Amino acid sequence: MSHLLPKHCLFCLEKTQSHFDLCDHCIKSLTLNNHCCQRCASPLEASLFIARERNITLCGNCLSHHYHYDRVYSPFVYSEEMRYLIKKLKYQKKIHFAQALAKLFLQKIHDTNDFQLPQTIIPMPMHPKRLRQRGFNQALELSRFFASHYKLPLNYTSLIRSRYTDLQAGMNAIERQKNVQKAFLVKKPINYEHIALIDDVMTTGSTVNEAAKILKQSGIKKVDIWIIARAGLEN
Ligand SMILES: [Zn+2]
Ligand SMILES: [Zn+2]
Repeated sequence: MSHLLPKHCLFCLEKTQSHFDLCDHCIKSLTLNNHCCQRCASPLEASLFIARERNITLCGNCLSHHYHYDRVYSPFVYSEEMRYLIKKLKYQKKIHFAQALAKLFLQKIHDTNDFQLPQTIIPMPMHPKRLRQRGFNQALELSRFFASHYKLPLNYTSLIRSRYTDLQAGMNAIERQKNVQKAFLVKKPINYEHIALIDDVMTTGSTVNEAAKILKQSGIKKVDIWIIARAGLEN
C-alpha cells in the first residue's frame, strides 16, 4: 500500500514532505507558462506577432484565426521535465501521475487573471480502439480529480470520439487539422452553458478546436480548455 510508505518525489525519487508528490526542487524545475497568449495559451516567446486587443494579449495565430474554444488555461510549458511526467502517465500507465499533475495545475490555475469555474468537466474523449490499446484515458483520470476538487459534475458520456484518427506526432498544423475533422460527436445533450474540456498536452490546438466546434454546435455557450502543458510543434 503506497500510502504507508514514506513519500518519494515522482521525478527525482528523493524523500519529500511536499503535498505535491514532487519535491520542491523538482517543482521549481518545471517551466511556468506565465507569458502566454490569453486565448490559446501559446507561450509568447514563440509567437511572431503580439497585440493587445481590448486589453487581452493575443498571439499572431489568435489575431488571424477564429478558434471555437473561448480560452485555454495551461499553467506549464511542455518542457523536458513535463514531458517526462506526462509520458510516464500515458505510456507507462502510471495513473498516480495524473493526480500529481492535476494538483500542480490546480495550484497554478488561480494565478490566471479572471479565471472562472465552469459548470461541468468534460475529458477529451478517446476512441474505443485507442482506449483498448492504452487501457485508460489520461484526460479522464485528470478530469476525475478536477471534478472532485471543485465538486463539479464530471461528464464523460456526452462527447465521444466517433472516428478513429491517426496519432498526430510528426504531423504539421494542416495535417493535424485534416486528421481530426469530424472526429467528435455530442451523443447526449449537455445541459450546461459553460464547460471545461480537459486534456494533458496541447500542440497546435487542432484537436481541442474541433471538439469545441462540435460542443458549440450542440448549444454550449462557453468552452474553456484546461491543459497541463502547452507545447509548440517542435515538441
Ligand atoms: Zn524531486
Ligand atoms: Zn493565441
